[in-house]
Amino acid sequence: MPRASRTPVSAPPAPADVRVGVLALQGDFAEHLVALRALGADAIEVRTLEQLSAVNGLIIPGGESTTIARLLIAFDLLGPLRDRIVKGLPVWGTCAGAILLAKHVPNLDRPPLAVMDITVERNAFGRQVDSFEANLKVEGIEGAPLRAIFIRAPLISRIGRSVALLATLKDGTIVAASQGHLLATSFHPELTEDRRMHGLFLQMVAEAAASRPTGGSGRPPR
Ligand code: GLN
Repeated sequence: MPRASRTPVSAPPAPADVRVGVLALQGDFAEHLVALRALGADAIEVRTLEQLSAVNGLIIPGGESTTIARLLIAFDLLGPLRDRIVKGLPVWGTCAGAILLAKHVPNLDRPPLAVMDITVERNAFGRQVDSFEANLKVEGIEGAPLRAIFIRAPLISRIGRSVALLATLKDGTIVAASQGHLLATSFHPELTEDRRMHGLFLQMVAEAAASRPTGGSGRPPR
């Protein structure tokens, strides 16, 4: 009898020549760094302008979106980060990070980065105690469904024309989407051992770095 194939929970090794940052102002940035480094990626914490200019891609982690938004201003990073995103910096927002990327967030007075054409409803599944897990089929991720952890998560209630839908819950609720160099997930892939979402983002970062007209392989100066 043929043996069942092993669930592929690993991802291809990280591309050489790119450095990925994780915004490290608040939230679970440490877990993202562990996941990226497990794939062999050159990954650094980003808290300063200098660190921001030294990365080819950035993860904005889960945490508390209102706090991260305030800290982005306090650390003088909001404008520079928005500028880099507009110029093509690949960014993946998980949970609070997805809220920060969205152009429309009805229950936030002012969307902070407002770069991705999605509407995001904060705390859409209820309170902390209503956190849950689900198996997801994610576009672009091969193999077994991804185990996704939702913690006081947002949902994506609308996607613009240029946004691709990547994953929904069984009832059709959108929980992952991408728009060019931007990726948004309502869940927390950094909290499981499955590194495939991080692998997908590293691929986006490598592609963007390779296609940059100036700077060739694209590694910015340290
Ligand atoms: N509820 C949080 C917010 O609105 C997000 C929760 C999370 O990142 N896990 O910022």
